[in-house]
Amino acid sequence: MPETIKLDIVTADRLVYSEDVDAIVAPGIEGELGILPHHTTLMTMLQAGELRVRKAGEETAMAISGGFLEVRPDRVVVLADSAEREAEIDLARAEEAKRRAQERLRHPAPGIDMARAEAALHRSVARLKVAEKRRRRRLGA
Ligand code: ATP
Repeated sequence: MPETIKLDIVTADRLVYSEDVDAIVAPGIEGELGILPHHTTLMTMLQAGELRVRKAGEETAMAISGGFLEVRPDRVVVLADSAEREAEIDLARAEEAKRRAQERLRHPAPGIDMARAEAALHRSVARLKVAEKRRRRRLGA
């Protein structure tokens, strides 16, 4: 039996993912972070992006919108602001969120919070990236 590491992905309102996995690639604030079993303990912030998991030769992608990742000796815990598995992503909603954020950034109304619009843009782009991947796979492309 190859060695695995337990991964829990939680948000404020739910447990999104909890499995023993072979490898994790997470969107750390300083770039992609690869984690294998026996990784040294660490804690880092996450940025909006794609979190990929490999388990028994299969890759699963999730969209994460920031939060924290902690590597403990026996497990990895991701405390995410929001997280969706591929199948949970509403493509039309993410496209609409992206369009809205781009519009706000292009034509800022007085008093608009640009950082908030940028964060919304990054969340939507992360969701679209994960959802598009799934769509392409289903089309066999
Ligand atoms: P929107 O403007 O469409 O609400 P948002 O980026 O502001 O997008 P968040 O505040 O990040 O949304 O998330 C609110 C909740 O909605 C979370 O539970 C998140 O998982 C979920 N969510 C947001 N966008 C999507 C989507 N495209 N598909 C599925 N769930 C989504």
